[in-house]
This record gives sequence, structure tokens and C-alpha cells, in this order.
Amino acid sequence: MTPPGSRTSTPIDWDYDPAPESAAIGRVRDRYQMYVGGRFVDGRGDDVKTINPGTEEALASVSTAAVADVDDAVAAARTAYEQTWSRISGAERGKYLFRIARGIAERARELAVVETLDNGKPIKESRDVDIPTASAHFFYYAGWADKLQHAGFGPSPRSLGVAGQVIPWNFPLLMAAWKIAPALAAGNTVVIKPAETTPLSILVLAEIIADADLPPGVVNIITGAGDIGAALVNHPGIDKVAFTGSTEVGKQIQSSLAGTGRKITLELGGKAANIVFDDAPVDQAVEGIVNGIFFNQGHVCCAGSRLLVQESVAGEVIEKLRARVATLRLGDPMDKNTDVGAINSAAQLATIRSLTDAGDAEGASRWTSPCAVPDRGFYFPPTVFTDVSQSMRIAREEIFGPVLSVLTFRTPDEAVAKANNTPYGLSAGVWTEKGSRILGMASAMRAGVVWANTFNRFDPTAAFGGYKESGFGREGGRSGLSAYLDTDDEFVGESPSAVTNSARDGSSQHVRPTSVDTASADTARADAEDATLAVAERLSEAEALADAVEVVASVDTVDTVDTVDTVDTVDTAETVDTVDTVDATTAQVPRVGVAKTYKLYIGGAFPRSESGRTYAVADSSGAFAANAAQASRKDARDAVSAARKAFRGWSGATAYNRGQVIYRIAEMLEGRRAQFIDLLGGDKDAVGASGLAAARDVDLSIDRLVQFAGWTDKIAAVFGGANPVAGPYFSFSTPEPTGVVAAIGPQDDPLLGLVSVIAPIITSGNTIVVIANRSRPLPAITLAEVLATSDLPGGVVNILTGDPAEIAPHLAAHGDVNALDLTGSSASLRTELERAAAGTVKRVYAPSRVPDFTREPGTARMRAFLETKTVWHPTGAVSLAGGSGY
Ligand code: NDP
Repeated sequence: MTPPGSRTSTPIDWDYDPAPESAAIGRVRDRYQMYVGGRFVDGRGDDVKTINPGTEEALASVSTAAVADVDDAVAAARTAYEQTWSRISGAERGKYLFRIARGIAERARELAVVETLDNGKPIKESRDVDIPTASAHFFYYAGWADKLQHAGFGPSPRSLGVAGQVIPWNFPLLMAAWKIAPALAAGNTVVIKPAETTPLSILVLAEIIADADLPPGVVNIITGAGDIGAALVNHPGIDKVAFTGSTEVGKQIQSSLAGTGRKITLELGGKAANIVFDDAPVDQAVEGIVNGIFFNQGHVCCAGSRLLVQESVAGEVIEKLRARVATLRLGDPMDKNTDVGAINSAAQLATIRSLTDAGDAEGASRWTSPCAVPDRGFYFPPTVFTDVSQSMRIAREEIFGPVLSVLTFRTPDEAVAKANNTPYGLSAGVWTEKGSRILGMASAMRAGVVWANTFNRFDPTAAFGGYKESGFGREGGRSGLSAYLDTDDEFVGESPSAVTNSARDGSSQHVRPTSVDTASADTARADAEDATLAVAERLSEAEALADAVEVVASVDTVDTVDTVDTVDTVDTAETVDTVDTVDATTAQVPRVGVAKTYKLYIGGAFPRSESGRTYAVADSSGAFAANAAQASRKDARDAVSAARKAFRGWSGATAYNRGQVIYRIAEMLEGRRAQFIDLLGGDKDAVGASGLAAARDVDLSIDRLVQFAGWTDKIAAVFGGANPVAGPYFSFSTPEPTGVVAAIGPQDDPLLGLVSVIAPIITSGNTIVVIANRSRPLPAITLAEVLATSDLPGGVVNILTGDPAEIAPHLAAHGDVNALDLTGSSASLRTELERAAAGTVKRVYAPSRVPDFTREPGTARMRAFLETKTVWHPTGAVSLAGGSGY
């Protein structure tokens, strides 16, 4: 201190004294058992020692599972599901969850100590973030257990059964809460495996669960390494898999579950951009950058590991950043003053060292905090790389440590391009004073969470999860519930149209409330066709066909009863005479039509297939109708690039505009209704029931377009909303389109099925490449003609014809396809495609039931192609809430 009145001042050393938390509070025992069927049991695997990464000393022995223990745990969960948990009311389930929440809160200090000892994270983080947020998750989902019918997934969402869950080491208790709480609230039972290096806090949670008297087997905790995780997620007794961890393992899991029909959520890695504009409040931004990458030693999937700073302020930001980072206290995780604790394991430390060495080798400039590093334990000092280019490994790969890579940009567009230039899409940060820029950037970034003027905020009410290779599914909020519910509501209710079900098989007449009496017209057409056939028997094949075409064509334009009369009284001999004695000047000869070549529909144009191949297509009677193009791999690629090109404009169009465009398609289809009825069933053999079904399908296709046109401007309100997060933040979650969707159209309904697949996908702003019904592609290509002459921008819908088995694998493996709709896939092809989809973690929609497209479409198809983006911003002055808490 400077004495009063003194003019000189001497610098004061403000070093902190040690303030260690007592390890005794953790009550760590010598040995821990697994928790299966409501009992603490020994696994059949070898015991492993868990290490305190802060000291490298052994903490405790932990019994581990062998594969037979996985069987036991799954069996216990199944019994509990069938005998108790699925039978008790939501209100009762909720009370158990409240008990667990309270139990965590009551043992918070002990849990914080255990977590820090086992994981290496600073005690102030486990105490202030991990444990309270874990408890809050149980509270939040407790409240949902008796309100599932209000969660927006229809009136009676159903539990799935037994969930197999695998979690990582970076937030052991918090990840357990994120997984267990929504699963139980939704009525499922669980088997969960923690990471091998951090099993202790979840085994303390097991004691809390036992004390809560949760029925035996509702939660089962098995310990072990990755092989046990693999045995769990692949176990045939599991109905649902939830995984958090590396993208590499996530891909393996998605691939190994291909074809099983099991519901999966994957929360994988990230390489988030934290973007600082020149108008940002620099001091607060520096706090946010520090929080973004050094919180939890950077062992955070959503860490802001790529700093993008506007060139004009880069010097100032980097200087202030280094000065601030130099003040971070690295060391004993149990010390309440520690900012940066220990790296979780020797293996992870080696990974960080190897990636930072690659940064040096590739020419980046390394700056290391001058902090002291303890001699024992796994520590890595905070590190900042500058002179980083986008191609370097430190800019592309997840380091999962306290290492920041700094890049610069000049314009907002460049910032967006660089931010999105990653296979990941978990989170992003933006620092600017301009509100419009915040919202513009938030919308342009392909990331599941965007923090504006803050970073690393979490709340049970706010959805969290990634785009692209950061995984799929959301945790938190009501989206977190949907992962554990059967919300497949599509095509199960009654059709909204006036069509009765029996009309599908022709046993009753279709009534369309328009001025056209479809039923009588169709009956007349059927009679006319019968009469024509009678005539045709006595004519040569060519003459008969020509006459039949003329008569059928006349049905739509003349009084149908008259037509029937006329045909009934035809003197066949005369007809033959007429044909024989035709006067060339009156042109009564049967006309030779111009044969139509059916092409593909890509980017708004009708190219021929690059393959140069066609295949013969029959009409509904089995007769040759036309040659259709057999799309090739190159065509598939062209269609994807057309869809990608169209995505920006279509997803960026206003909901109102998209609605108008889709409504316009409905109008155009209405105008060509008769043509489509003929295409579907108006040919000579498909009379009666088929004819009625054809009219019904065309009408429902039109109605479906009208229905989804009306969804465009409702999606955000119905599936998004404000999140009542704790703290001075405004947070909202909003649905966004997934991107480019590749679909296999239904193989039964060539028009209605196709429209029912396309409409819900494009309504939210996705673009689509769809493979038409293989054997009956003509309605699809004729629909393309409707689309081409509507207001739909080219490339939003692309239609390929040919063999799905030949085309679809290219789409499933394509890096620029974000999601697959496998409605029309065979079971064997589905497995192959789902496996290929895992290569880039594509979302896959493969309905478990064969859809009856005449019924109410529900919302499942729309939801399957929506991402949820959560945006956070401090309320009030940024300076009040933008900081890190350090
Ligand atoms: P992993 O993906 O290897 O492990 C996550 C969990 O999955 C652990 O419980 C692990 O068991 C288990 N596991 C491993 N292999 C399989 C498998 N084949 N099938 C089923 N389960 C399996 O991640 P790590 O923990 O090893 O971390 C490595 C990298 O993952 C990090 O550097 C980081 O990039 C990323 N990561 C991302 C996280 C996120 O939150 N998104 C969290 C943690 C890591 P065990 O650990 O016992 O081997």
C-alpha cells in the first residue's frame, strides 16, 4: 500500500495465498462398484484405478463390466421398464426426479470435490457450474414428466423403452444429468456408461438415486472402457442410443446401428468460431474469449477454439488477450483460486502436445502463458497461436485443450465464410455492439448455439446440440425430450380431406367439394373405356389403340353420358370402313403422336442423363409407356450441387414467400388435375377402383401442397420459442432447415407419396434431391414440368429417375448432403445407406411404419429436417454480463 500523503508508489505483489478445498469432503472410498438393478454389484471385468490428474496419484479402484454385465444391466432396465416405470404416472416419475435433484443439491459440496479430484477441473467450476446445473436438469425435467402431452409432440407421445447412454469425461456428472433426466421424465429406463477415467461422480449419483428409492433397474450404471460402450450401444435389447463424445466414435456408432431402426442422438465435437468485430466492447470480448477457450481447460465440445478477429482491431485484441491470459492461475484444481486446472489424462495431454507441435511445424506463432506449471500432474499452459491459416491442423481439428488459434477477417461475409468452413457446427460466438449484425450473424452461422456478447452459457431450458458433424438431436429444453419419445405422428390420423378410407380401395365414391363431379366423370370414363375395348377387339391393334386414345381424350371435354352412348352404338364394321376409306384431304387417319422423352429435373432444367441410359417404364396396366432416364453418379452430383446452390436463397426467403410459392404449385397442379388423373390410373385397364384412387391421390397431392404452404410461417412459432434461462440473458431457440436433403420417393404412391415427401422438406427452407418411384416415374417428371413453370426457384426440388440402388449410395456418401429421407428404400438398401450416412453424420429419416399417405401427415417429417438453433444475449449493458466470471 502507498502510505497516505506519499507521492511515490511501489508495485504491490497481489499474489493469492493458497485456498485449497478439503479433499476429505469428497469422502472418496477405496473401491467403487457398479449400480445394476438397484444394487451395487461387482462387474466381471478387472478393477481399474482412477487417477487424480492434478497429482497423478491413484484415487480409488473401480470395478468394471464385462460384456455379460451389459446383458444384466439391459435386462434389469427392461424389467424395470415393463414392470414399473412405464406403468406409473408421469406425476409419480416427476417426484422421483425431484428427489434426485434435491439429493444432488444436498450433496453438492461432496460431489464438487469428487468431480474435481477425478477430472482435474478447477473446484470453482465444479462447485459453481457442473453440480448446480446437473441438479437444475433434474428439476427441469421433473416438471415435464406429467406434461408430455403439452410438449408439442402430439397428444400422446410414447416412451421408447430402454436407453443406452455413453458419456465422456469432460463434464462427467453434468453429462449424466443431461442424459438421465430427460430419459426418465419421458418414461424410459436407462443403462449408462461413464468414461473410464471419470467414473466417480456418477457412482456417487448412484447412491443418491438409491436413497431416492427409485425403483430398481430404472437407472443402471456400468463402468468400463470403449469396448463396453460399444457393447452397450449395439446391444439388441436397447431401444434408443444417446452418445456424447468424439466425432470419430460417433460415426462408428451411427454406422454400426445402420438398419436397426434404433433412435440415435449424437453430441459430438466442435471447432467453434468466436468472432470479434471492430465495434465490440474489447475488454468484455477479451473476457468472453478467455471464458470460451480456457473454461474447463478447453475440454469443452463447444469451446471457442478459433478466434476470428476483425483485422483493424486484431493487434489491440491480441495484446489485451495475452495480458489477460497471463493472469490466469494454473495449478492445483482443488485450490479455489485456480482458473485452469489439470488435463484429464496423460493420453489427452499427449494429444494436445502433438497438435500444438503440428501448429509449430505448419508455421503458426505460438505464445504461451508465462504461468508456472506444477511438476506433477497433467498440465498444459494456456496457449495462443497467431499467424494461423485455415488449412492448418490447429484451425481444423478439435484440440480439446487450452489452446486458441487466432485468424483475422475484414468483412462480415468473410467472417461467416471462415466460421462455417468446418465440418463441425456446434457453437459460435459473436461480439459486436450492433444488434442487426448480431442477428444477421446468428442466422448465417451453421451452428446449434450462438452466443452473442457472451460465451459458454448453459441452461436446462435451452436446447443444445450441433449441426453437421457435431451430431444430431438436441439436449435441454423440450427438444431434449423428443430424443426420448416416440413422436412419429405422421400419417396415423384421419385424412383431413373429405376422402373416406374405403375410397382407397374403390368401395365408395370419392367426393371432392368442387364444381366438377369427379365421381360421375370417372365412372363415365370407365364405361367409355369398356366400350372402347369392346370395339377394339374387332380392330387391328394399331387402329384400336388410336381410337381408344381419342375416345378417352374426349371424356374430359364432352358430356360423358353422350360419349358412352356414342361408343355403345358404334358400328364396328363402319368404323373399319371409315378407316379403310379415309380421305387424305380430311386427315381422318389416326395421328402418329410425337414420342416424349422423359428427362431428369436438375436445377430447374431438364437434362438428359449423363449415363446415356434409359429404361422402359410401363403404365399401370403393365404396357410400355415410355423410356425414362437412368440417372448416373454424375447426375446425382449435379443435382446435389444445384440443391446446394439453391439452398441459400430458398432458406433465406421469407416464410411468406415460400408459402406463396408452394401454394402456387398447388394451383398449377389443380390446373393439370385431369392430366395427372390420367397418368395415375386413367389408362384403359385401370378403370373403376383404380380410377377413383387416381383422382383421390391427385386431389390429396394438391391438398397436401396447400397444407404445407400454410406451415411455412407457423414453424418458428410452433417449434421455437423463448427459453426462460437463469441469469441476465435473453435466449431463444428457433428452428432452421437442415440443408440439402436426399430422398428416395415412395415406391407405391408415385404422385401422392412423392408430394408428401417433398412438401414437408421444402416448407422449412431445405432443398431436395429426390429419386422418383422407379417403376412409375412419369408422374414425378410430369410434376417437374409443373414445378418448372411455377415460381419455385430452380434447384429447390431436383428429381432423378432410375434405380435407387444405383443412385442413392452416391447421395448417401456425398459430403454436401445433410440428411436422408429413406421412405422409399428397401430394407437392405436402407442399411447400406445408413452406414454411408455415418461418414459425415447425416441425419436419417426412415419411418418405422409404412406411411399411408392418404392420412393426416402430422409433423414428424417436418421436424426430421429441422435443426434447432439457440441464441443467447445478455440483457442490459454488455459489461454487466459479458464477462467470464474469472
Ligand atoms: P471418445 O469418443 O473416445 O469417448 C466418449 C465415450 O465413449 C467414453 O465413455 C468412451 O469410453 C466411450 N467409447 C469409446 N469408444 C467407444 C465405442 N466404440 N463405442 C461406444 N462407446 C465408446 O472420446 P474421448 O473421451 O476419448 O475424447 C477424445 C476426443 O473426443 C476429445 O479429444 C474430443 O475431441 C472429443 N470429445 C468431445 C466431447 C463432447 O462433449 N462433444 C466430450 C469428450 C470428448 P472410454 O472413455 O472409457 O474409453
